[in-house]
Amino acid sequence: MNVTDYWFCDSCGERIEKAEDGWVEWITYTDKKGKYKARNFRLVHHQRGCQFNEKEEFKKDGGTVSDLPLKSFLGIDGLTYLLSKIAINEIPTVEVLEMIKRLHILGYEASKRHFDRALRMGIIEQNNYPGYYSQNQIKTVLDMKWPEDFSKVRTKKPSLNLKKGFTVDDLCQLLSSCDDIEGNHIIWVDHDGNLNITLLPNKFTPAGWDNSMKGKIKFRYETLVAGNGYVGFEAAKDKKYIKELYKDLKNDWKKNRTGFIDYRE
Ligand SMILES: [Zn+2]
Repeated sequence: MNVTDYWFCDSCGERIEKAEDGWVEWITYTDKKGKYKARNFRLVHHQRGCQFNEKEEFKKDGGTVSDLPLKSFLGIDGLTYLLSKIAINEIPTVEVLEMIKRLHILGYEASKRHFDRALRMGIIEQNNYPGYYSQNQIKTVLDMKWPEDFSKVRTKKPSLNLKKGFTVDDLCQLLSSCDDIEGNHIIWVDHDGNLNITLLPNKFTPAGWDNSMKGKIKFRYETLVAGNGYVGFEAAKDKKYIKELYKDLKNDWKKNRTGFIDYRE
């Protein structure tokens, strides 16, 4: 089990590498009934730009910033302090519970961003109250070695061309830039030798999509059904699969094949 020795900043999304760099903050305000309340209980970097802007928060509802170093919330005393926050009932309970999970449940902070995806992929099952996972489930999710940030991965889409040539690693990068969960994908090559992996739009069947491309496609392979790991970071780990795909692409280009190639030998 990976022990969580870093956290993610609720403001910038980047890692908080050391407890000393972390800051817990929330806004206290008086509601319309004159009751003392709090909102936005969060964990951020202890630096300008990540912490609340006091003027802006005051403008919203006359709220003032309360804050403490992350260290005050760690360890048994930190947990006790967080429990007392629930007892006092100023900060919404769900926000305090989430902070307790993040700071005190082993592996939760490192894995929490991946639970939705893991559930949709069927890697883990929802067998507890949503948002609450066993150590076994957390371990399973952490063992997946997810890309740190899917949106960042997806922007690095290399353009590959069979005429100019590319490496197995380039193909690996292109595959991992796709998201297997988003939908079915089609691998195809145009007449200039450009290799594409296209997310099949929902409104189209593969043949319908092919027609809509109006002859742009030189050849295409069978549709890669979502959730099978044919594209995405999981596919990129399967070196044998990538090498075979690489060989097929080169051969089919060399043999000047056209149209739908149903079965890749
Ligand atoms: Zn930050």
